[in-house]
Amino acid sequence: MSAALRYLSTRGRAPAATLGEAIAAGLAPDGGLYVPERLPTLAPADFAPHGTLADTAATLLAPFFAGDPLAAELPAICAEALDFPVPLRALPYLDAQVLELFHGPTAAFKDVGARFLAASLRRLPRADARTLTILVATSGDTGAAVGAAFHRQPGVRVVILYPDGLVSPRQAHQLGCFGDNVQALRVAGRFDDCQRMVKAALNDAGLQHALPLSSANSISLGRLLPQMSYYAHAALGWWREHRAPLDFIVPTGNLGNALACLWVRAMGLPVGEVRLACNANATLPEFFAGRDYAPREAVATLANAMDVGAPSNFERLRWSFGDDDAVRHALQAESVDDATIRRTIAAHARTHGEAFCPHTATAVHVLDRLREQGDARPWTVVATAHPAKFEQVVEPLVGHPLAVPSALAAMLQRSATAAPLAASDEALKHWLRRSAQP
Ligand SMILES: *Cc1c(COP(=O)(O)O)cnc(C)c1O
Repeated sequence: MSAALRYLSTRGRAPAATLGEAIAAGLAPDGGLYVPERLPTLAPADFAPHGTLADTAATLLAPFFAGDPLAAELPAICAEALDFPVPLRALPYLDAQVLELFHGPTAAFKDVGARFLAASLRRLPRADARTLTILVATSGDTGAAVGAAFHRQPGVRVVILYPDGLVSPRQAHQLGCFGDNVQALRVAGRFDDCQRMVKAALNDAGLQHALPLSSANSISLGRLLPQMSYYAHAALGWWREHRAPLDFIVPTGNLGNALACLWVRAMGLPVGEVRLACNANATLPEFFAGRDYAPREAVATLANAMDVGAPSNFERLRWSFGDDDAVRHALQAESVDDATIRRTIAAHARTHGEAFCPHTATAVHVLDRLREQGDARPWTVVATAHPAKFEQVVEPLVGHPLAVPSALAAMLQRSATAAPLAASDEALKHWLRRSAQP
């Protein structure tokens, strides 16, 4: 067994942390994101040939956990968090595959990270015996995944902030349906307001003294690391059959999902080319086209979980590849506007009876373009959410009602409530103080 990996901040001004510390903290104290001091390497032969997704995850992540008190728990964490299928389904009409990440409890890939984070945090010792309040700002999918992952878990409660009116009706219902230890707040503002309010609360020492707070946003290593598992699992399966690496097209917002894919490749596993599909928020496509990195405010699109103007994992991407030219060499990105998203969903439904969610449709469009250009490689499109989660967009385009996955249907059966909240830092702090009173 190799020595324990240390975890460093991308900004280089925080002390090195153990994995458990990095997972518990979320953000590094200097405002940077935690990264392993180096990426371990593995070979296909290191993996059991007929293992489950959870088996692949346990082998893949073992070097990241080595030496940490959580290491002994890793197989149990993987088995608990990754207990739903992630099929690589053939799309013969496109000579391609779709990697379906949406068969978890809330029908989006965020379930993988949220469930792994919850299973890890549950096993980390806490000095403070009081209930931990986990704050999560969401543009739609993260909040539900985190709510589901921590629902009825003792010792924690989850407070979800989402922008009122800017998530799909089914997303809103999911966010408000948990009850018990999960509370939703609908904020009269945008996602950026929700994120700022959460940060302000976390940085308020007095408030932290009154009630212990933590966050579960996508910057946590406890969410990023498990996302590597499905890329490794799919690529290893493909490798055993074809002796060739697997190429991926990844719908991208904050870059957490795509970065996980790139890290699997950097570990020496058979991932080939990686393309990013973005919506009209073109910060990354412009950077990859050669311009300077220019973060900005997000604009609202049909693929709302990708409405990101300043992708938080960009710091990790730069860290991973050293300099901007090396980053540009490592992958490519394309921006897909709403009209094209609609056209893509309608066209694939009409010609082949396939229904894609608006996020997945950005990646499907990138594949369509590659085929037009004569690219014949067996690409894998990553499907990040079930289309029934966005039925108001997708059903009119495909022309029929969509079957609802059973977990989502069960959530829609329950009643849902969310408390209104003004989009100010003080409003959230006041709400939290009041909620902490016995
Ligand atoms: C979060 C999300 C994305 C974007 O993922 P990132 O890791 O932020 O790049 C894409 N599609 C769906 C459905 C999502 O929920």
